[in-house]
Amino acid sequence: MCAFMDHPADPLTGLPHDERIRSRKLAGGVATIIVDATGLSSEQAKAIEENLRAAALKVAGVAEVRIAMTASQPHRTLIAIGSGKGGVGKSTVSANLAIAMARAGKKVGLIDADVYGPSQPTLLGKHDKPEGKDDRLIPVEAHGIRFLSLGQLVSPGHALAWRGPMATGALANLIEADWGDAELIIVDLPPGTGDVQLSLIQRSRPAGAVIVSTPQDLSLIDARRAVDLFNKTSVPVLGIIENMATYACPHCGEDSHPFGTGGAEKAAGELGVPFLGRLPLSLMLREASDAGEPPAAGDGPEAEAFAALASELLKVLETPVH
Ligand code: ADP
Repeated sequence: MCAFMDHPADPLTGLPHDERIRSRKLAGGVATIIVDATGLSSEQAKAIEENLRAAALKVAGVAEVRIAMTASQPHRTLIAIGSGKGGVGKSTVSANLAIAMARAGKKVGLIDADVYGPSQPTLLGKHDKPEGKDDRLIPVEAHGIRFLSLGQLVSPGHALAWRGPMATGALANLIEADWGDAELIIVDLPPGTGDVQLSLIQRSRPAGAVIVSTPQDLSLIDARRAVDLFNKTSVPVLGIIENMATYACPHCGEDSHPFGTGGAEKAAGELGVPFLGRLPLSLMLREASDAGEPPAAGDGPEAEAFAALASELLKVLETPVH
């Protein structure tokens, strides 16, 4: 029989690890075998590969064996949270939104990619270092979510301010970590719209982006730049969140608007992106965040506000893009 034809009787049927073999083919003396390595450690995968290679080489007509080990990844959606400038509450919103989405029944991971000030360990009140297994980081659990932060990779107080390639290299370790069954991964980007942000967005290839802004004009100009940045990288903007909108006086209960109101909603309308909702300026939110007790994990108006935002974002995510 011609050695360059597929073998009609499929001589590769008798190979070991049958349950893991996804496809097998013998053509021109070359056996090509695709193996599902999901859940295997690198040693186990290597052992199976060697075993299969040895067995396949014993099959008549096989001169060479090519084995591809593939791990089927659960489908994951990365959502980048950005802001045109710092101090608008992007990290606070990222942490609480992640927790609120977990409370809504999603399996959620959070990546703190804020090179200038990784604050998630503080916001989540968890400073444990992640462990590593098979060359992959294992995210740390807190408040029903899993998270990894660039801050966990350096000693506390050590200034980060990494340059682009270092930051993107470190981010790759966080993205390629062992996220288990997480379906949604929130990426807290550094504030601003420069080259570092651009390379981080390109590296993480998020499915969509959310922009956090205060209602102020100045912040909104920056939010527009953030929308431009995501447009430039072809990442759909899923919506804008207005933070620090209304201040309810704890004494008289009267609402005031220190940073104006409605600005982010108006900008969202003008830019043609969804407005996801607003969060009040809240002393409780700031104090609880500083204390590592994210309000979204508790009860009260702040938790409700984050739950409403999470539900809006999940709705946008479930709406097919045309
Ligand atoms: P960014 O990530 O945009 O730099 P942060 O999330 O670190 O901003 O927030 C900056 C500061 O503002 C923090 O002290 C935080 O607790 C506070 N903050 C954020 N959102 C609110 C809010 N809605 N009400 C009161 N304080 C807030």
